[in-house]
Amino acid sequence: MKLKERAADYRKAMELNHGWEVELECTACGYRGLPDYKGWTPGYPMSFGSTPTIFADLECPACGRDLETEAGAKLGELFSPVEIPRANRRLLALFILLSAALVAASAVILVLTGNALGVIPLFFLIPMLAFIPVFNRRIAALRQRCDCGDPDYVFMGMLGRAYCFRCSSCGKLLKLRD
Ligand SMILES: [Zn+2]
Ligand SMILES: [Zn+2]
Repeated sequence: MKLKERAADYRKAMELNHGWEVELECTACGYRGLPDYKGWTPGYPMSFGSTPTIFADLECPACGRDLETEAGAKLGELFSPVEIPRANRRLLALFILLSAALVAASAVILVLTGNALGVIPLFFLIPMLAFIPVFNRRIAALRQRCDCGDPDYVFMGMLGRAYCFRCSSCGKLLKLRD
């Protein structure tokens, strides 16, 4: 595969299917039901703790109010109890372990030789960065299967750095980290 095709392929695998398919309650007018989904806006997620970030533009069908706050609260309520799948946790742990091993190797060489040779393993951290897409792709592959046999994951937003998905076919919730 050519590099360009590979890049396109990667983008496709990483693509998120934005949407919102759960009920919300409008705090202004009391409407309860599915909000109007008006597309989505790219944004910078709050990458700490479990602060929700909603990318979807959601509107109350009754009064037209923006329901981002309600959606954020709902996302927290739905996904806080959801665990990151084991396969995902293993991949993250492996990546951290490999990086830590390189840093540790540097420290050991520095101590043993007492000279600048110790920084050599640190150079391997750069190719490690090149592996990030490989890791991310393997994590994204977790979205290609669901117990219901018909995986159709809708991306609802982020809780901290975790991506929150809901299978449109069966309602199963999936939380991923990359
Ligand atoms: Zn309303
Ligand atoms: Zn499903």
